[in-house]
Amino acid sequence: MSREKRIELRNSKGHEMTFKRYHRYSDMLHYLEYLSIKYPELVEMITIGKSSLGQPLKVVKVSTGQRTKKGEIKPAVWIDGGTHAREWISPAVVMYTLKQLVENFKINRKIVEGADWYILPVSNPDGYEYSHSTDRFWRKTRSNHEIEDEKQSRTLSSFFWGETCRGVDMNRNWNFHWGEVGASDDPCQETYAGPRPFSEPETRAISDFIMDRKDRIKLYLTMHAYSQMWLIPWGYTNKKTGDYDDLMSMGRKAVDALNRVSGTQYQVGHSPSLLYPTSGGADDWAKGVAGIKYAYTVELRDDGTYGFLLPASQIVATGKETFAAIKAVARAIVCKN
Ligand SMILES: [Zn+2]
Repeated sequence: MSREKRIELRNSKGHEMTFKRYHRYSDMLHYLEYLSIKYPELVEMITIGKSSLGQPLKVVKVSTGQRTKKGEIKPAVWIDGGTHAREWISPAVVMYTLKQLVENFKINRKIVEGADWYILPVSNPDGYEYSHSTDRFWRKTRSNHEIEDEKQSRTLSSFFWGETCRGVDMNRNWNFHWGEVGASDDPCQETYAGPRPFSEPETRAISDFIMDRKDRIKLYLTMHAYSQMWLIPWGYTNKKTGDYDDLMSMGRKAVDALNRVSGTQYQVGHSPSLLYPTSGGADDWAKGVAGIKYAYTVELRDDGTYGFLLPASQIVATGKETFAAIKAVARAIVCKN
C-alpha cells in the first residue's frame, strides 16, 4: 500500500471517496453503503437491476419521508450519471451531489425535504470499469449481442476483422423514436442503438424504475460530458416541444446559478441546434414516454480543452457549480410551497 493511499484511508472515516481523483465503481459502492449506514433515516439503497456483466445497478433514495407535513405526496427528482463510460466527470459530479444532499443536509434542508431524490451515480458500470482497466475512451456498454443472438448474421466489420464488436450506446437505446436519426445499426459503431429498444439490461432497469414513479418525478437530469450545455428535448427532431419556453427558462435559471459560482459559461438549447440530432436518447424518452416535464441532458465541463480527460483537480469545482444549478432548478420545481 502506498503512503498516499494509507493517508487517504486514515482520513476517510469509513470510505474511500476523496473527490480528488476519479474513483473505481467499488469505491463508489462503498461510499453509498457508508451513507446508508451512517444516515439510515435519510438514505436508502435500492438495487434496480444488474448490468450485462452482473454488476449491481444501485439507486440511492434520499428522503425525509414520502409525505409533506400536510400529508401530501412529495414530488421526486431523478439524477443519473455514467451513461457513457469515458465521461468520468459525470459519476463524480453525481456523487458530489449526493454528498451535498446527505452530508450537508442542514444547508440543503429545503430541497431535500421538498422531494424524494433518486440518484444513480453509474448507469453503465461495465463500460465505466472497462474505461479504467482497458480502453480510456470506451463509450458503450459491454454487452455482446452477436453471441447472444446466433440467428443474427455477423456484421461486415466483424467478418473482416475476425472479432465481434461489443457494447451498445445506451443513449440511443431508449424506446422513443428508436433507431432514427443519429443512431447506427452497426455494432462496431460508437452510436450503435442496439438490436432493439431496451436491449440493454441497464436501460431496461432504469426505465422500469422510472415508469413506476413517473407521476411523481418532476425533474429528470442525466449527466454527460463534455461541452458545457444544458440540453432540452427533443433530440430527434428540430421541432420544439409544446412547452419549449418553460424548459428554456428553467434551463437558463440553472446555468445562471452555475455561472454565478464560477463564471463557467453554459449554453441552453436543444441538441439538433447546438450539437446534432440523435434518436433513442434518454431525455427524449423521459419527456415523450414517461411524461416528465423538466427533462434535461447536462453536458458538463469542459469546453474541449481536456475533453474526456478533464483533470481530477476540476472535480470539486465542477461539482460545486453543477450543484448550484441543480439546487436552483429543484427550488423552482419541487419547493414551490
Ligand atoms: Zn455522453
